[in-house]
Amino acid sequence: MSEKACSTCHTIAVGNICPKCRTPTLSDDYSGIVIIFDPEDSIIAKAMNIKEKGRYALKVR
Ligand SMILES: [Zn+2]
Repeated sequence: MSEKACSTCHTIAVGNICPKCRTPTLSDDYSGIVIIFDPEDSIIAKAMNIKEKGRYALKVR
């Protein structure tokens, strides 16, 4: 099964429902993966409004 990205919160996940926001808005059309280790101290996390560590897609279509 391939990984998809949530178009709501940008989380990378496998399956059809996002494990973080529980919406079925996963898309396999995404680009760029960022790994957030410390959301409190990350400019990218702030820009993307990410509050938990994890892997995220930069762009989801
Ligand atoms: Zn989500």
